[in-house]
Amino acid sequence: MSNSRHTKVLIIGSGPAGYTAGVYASRAMLEPILVQGIEPGGQLTTTTEVENWPGDSEVQGPDLMIRMEAHAKDMGAEIIGDIITSLDLSERPFQAKGDSGTVYTSDAIILATGARAQWLGLPSEEKFKGFGVSACATCDGFFYRGQEIVVVGGGNTAVEEALFLTNFASKVTLIHRRDELRAEQILINRLMKNEKIQPMWFHEIDEVYGSEAPLGVEGVKVKHTKTGEITNIPCKGVFIAIGHSPANELVIDTLETHMGGYVVTKPDSTETSIPGVFASGDLTDHKYRQAVTSAGMGCMAALEAERWLAEQNQ
Ligand code: FAD
Ligand code: NAP
Repeated sequence: MSNSRHTKVLIIGSGPAGYTAGVYASRAMLEPILVQGIEPGGQLTTTTEVENWPGDSEVQGPDLMIRMEAHAKDMGAEIIGDIITSLDLSERPFQAKGDSGTVYTSDAIILATGARAQWLGLPSEEKFKGFGVSACATCDGFFYRGQEIVVVGGGNTAVEEALFLTNFASKVTLIHRRDELRAEQILINRLMKNEKIQPMWFHEIDEVYGSEAPLGVEGVKVKHTKTGEITNIPCKGVFIAIGHSPANELVIDTLETHMGGYVVTKPDSTETSIPGVFASGDLTDHKYRQAVTSAGMGCMAALEAERWLAEQNQ
């Protein structure tokens, strides 16, 4: 039998946006329910040092997210370990079905489902996922002690992952399709000084190859983006760090999206195309995609939900 729960505000997602919305909605006495999803704490739980969270020169991502969860809970948010599998926004109260069987109904919804890692889309990448191909250095780096590793990408994530992996690997090759990184300069400086890291410019992965029994990566074939020349790089681990796309599955058919699936919000607002539904964090932000901006949008969403609910009761 399915269990049903009603709340004034349902917050979907437990990254910086979701937990901040939880703090603000609780302090507004809205008694929010926050559903954490498959990744409690969100993307920052997949990294180590965070150096740009105001108030902390350095904090471990997972520790920061444990503190945010405790903060939201202390303020009164009910935090539930469940995954929303479908969302009906066609009438109010809105209805969200949980993987647990619980049906959540709510007067307002704050979407904070963030973003997920992108993959190259190669059949060989798919074949070796979990067997040498990964998108999370902090989760899997430890398995490659003394081994050679390849990291793909040129943004902050790729550079941070390459640096982190030098703690384990004998050598890290950073493969980037251009000769210019889009990572922050402080990270680029660290990368360039690290003798274990060798950048390989103007290259893309053509194929991941390896053994069948046991299944495991032995190397990658990379292609020069200008000449087409193929080079083999022996390695045991391949870390894909080519960006993230918004986790919009719940609303892709109901809310307006743009720029590759980011939920559209009104200017200077978290209001979406459906009244009473607010979107925050990386789900809606194609530009900044930072913990602090996500937290800021979580705050905005809770304040806007509070005002909107008050207007409905007038
Ligand atoms: P996310 O953190 O993506 O969280 C999304 C949440 O939604 C998760 O809890 C997930 O479980 C939940 N969810 C998704 N679908 C469902 C569903 N169907 N039902 C219920 N819940 C659901 N930013 C910085 O400012 N500084 C850094 O140093 C930094 N380092 C980073 C390192 C890495 C490796 C990565 C990947 C990102 C980093 N970022 C950093 C970016 C930062 O992590 C994101 O901008 C931020 O986490 C986005 O917050 P969010 O709350 O929007 O979503
Ligand atoms: P990103 O900034 O979007 O960078 C993605 C990188 O992957 C780019 O260099 C891109 O190349 C490359 N790429 C994309 N598709 C590719 C493909 N199919 N094949 C090969 N290369 C491909 O993504 P991100 O590094 O994951 O960062 C996401 C957000 O999180 C950013 O806003 C970032 O600032 C934030 N973040 C912040 C920190 C921090 O503050 N310390 C750490 C991690 C992430 P091009 O450059 O050629 O486009």
